[in-house]
Amino acid sequence: MTVSTYFQPDSLPEALALLGEHGPDLLVIAGGTVAMPLINEGISLPAKVMGLRRVGLGGIEQRGDRLAIGAMATLTALTTLQEVPLLAEAARHTASWAVRNMGTVGGNLFTPPPGGDVATALLALDAQVELVGPAGARLLPLSGFWTGFMTTAAGPDELVARIVVPVAPGRHAFVKLGRKAANTPAVVTVAVRAAMDGEAVRDVRIALGAAGPHPLRSAGAEAAVEGRALTPEVIASAAGAAAEDAQPFSDQVASTWYRRRMVGVMVGRALAQLASAEQRGA
Ligand SMILES: Cc1cc2nc3c(=O)[nH]c(=O)nc-3n(C[C@H](O)[C@H](O)[C@H](O)COP(=O)(O)OP(=O)(O)OC[C@H]3O[C@@H](n4cnc5c(N)ncnc54)[C@H](O)[C@@H]3O)c2cc1C
Repeated sequence: MTVSTYFQPDSLPEALALLGEHGPDLLVIAGGTVAMPLINEGISLPAKVMGLRRVGLGGIEQRGDRLAIGAMATLTALTTLQEVPLLAEAARHTASWAVRNMGTVGGNLFTPPPGGDVATALLALDAQVELVGPAGARLLPLSGFWTGFMTTAAGPDELVARIVVPVAPGRHAFVKLGRKAANTPAVVTVAVRAAMDGEAVRDVRIALGAAGPHPLRSAGAEAAVEGRALTPEVIASAAGAAAEDAQPFSDQVASTWYRRRMVGVMVGRALAQLASAEQRGA
């Protein structure tokens, strides 16, 4: 254990001041479910740590037709969100109750692959990230937040304060393939959201998790279904496009080859769900 100083600021300005004072030497911790195991195993060796529990970012509030979710909201708090059922479903498929009670939505944006199941759903929902720093707050689309493996557009003096999610009618599907039925890292995660025009798909978003250095959208799969009815042929074409768009990797969970195959299969399943009678309200 290397940690010699633990800061627990009582407000966001205090947290930002500490970040400005100590810079990259200060490790930020939210729920600690990713960060603490790395410290305990000696993989991460920070001398100074700052916990965000008391900075007042745990709330979820409606802002017009959007939901502003505090970065410190727990995954458990998301599981019952009726306004955004895709997000609730993704949270219920993330980790276990114990981890969901500690882990936060903000922390999920920084979770290394194959994690980030909630982040994958947020990408399909066109969420925005509110970053706060010494210069104030700025909003950026989640699609522009990740810049590579474990790198983001957040500056070293910025924190994620909120995630802003549009609340819009439409259909959704969330499919996660793991090696177990529950509490399992993803082989592949697929989150889909679409507005519908009769049986034609409009404004579709198809997000892939555990299929690249961070959650990513499949432009090819989206183009294959946009404006079309979800026939078996259209679904098969989208599934093939998603497998091509994926940037899979090998780890202890699955190989690159298997992940690419499963991206196609899971996108096919997710789109079949989107087309199902249940989603039509029949
Ligand atoms: C047993 C187990 C099972 C798991 N299963 C899953 C799973 O199925 N799916 C999944 O997606 N994840 C899974 N996880 C990973 C993790 O629990 C979740 O991703 C969780 O949401 C991480 O949030 P946290 O608050 O604990 O992050 P932390 O560990 O507190 O933080 C991770 C990093 O994110 C950064 N960070 C966090 N909050 C902020 C902020 N507000 N501003 C700036 N930087 C910040 C910090 O740099 C920090 O080092 C699992 C973890 C464990 C231990």
